Amino acid sequence: MTEIYVLRLGHRPERDKRVTTHVALTSRALGAKGIYVSTKDEELERSVRSVVKRFGGDFCITTGVKWKEVLRSFDGTRVHLTMYGTHIDDALPRVRSAMTDKMLIVVGAEKVPPEVYQAATFNIGVGNQPHSEVAALAIFLDRLREGEGLRTDFKGRMTVLPCDRGKRVVNNPE
Ligand code: SAM
Repeated sequence: MTEIYVLRLGHRPERDKRVTTHVALTSRALGAKGIYVSTKDEELERSVRSVVKRFGGDFCITTGVKWKEVLRSFDGTRVHLTMYGTHIDDALPRVRSAMTDKMLIVVGAEKVPPEVYQAATFNIGVGNQPHSEVAALAIFLDRLREGEGLRTDFKGRMTVLPCDRGKRVVNNPE
């Protein structure tokens, strides 16, 4: 199975904490192995690791990365999600046939530098209207994995048992 990583560009700790946390948690919940964030943010690292500790899996977060270096040295398919890209419906068959062992998905916060568009194997629009990096990532991952990501068993200390009403959570023995 392809190992998927996410690269989050342009994170501004004072403005984007909530959105970047959601980018990370969405990546994890939909089956990515880890996230790289271009700005150092220890609080963000702590809050994502705390979810991993409680809910399981081996999702990893690294902040303060040299993003140009991550992008340049990544040994696999590079997908940049952008409203200007090829529509996801047209791009996905090509992504599938070019699939490698690893995939890096790049999402921005503010304006994304032109070199990202050039370095990407695919520039993909999740539709061609402006919306959100969280929405773009969720839809792309779900379509790519055909819903499989949402069925991952994280084998966490805490497991949520789906129910029609209320909340059912079990604490598993370590
Ligand atoms: N104006 C910015 C730009 O020119 O890159 C976009 C900012 S947008 C709030 C933040 C990120 O959301 C983008 O960098 C992109 O990764 C993602 N995004 C927003 N709309 C998208 C779409 N329709 N398809 C794919 N990604 C999208």
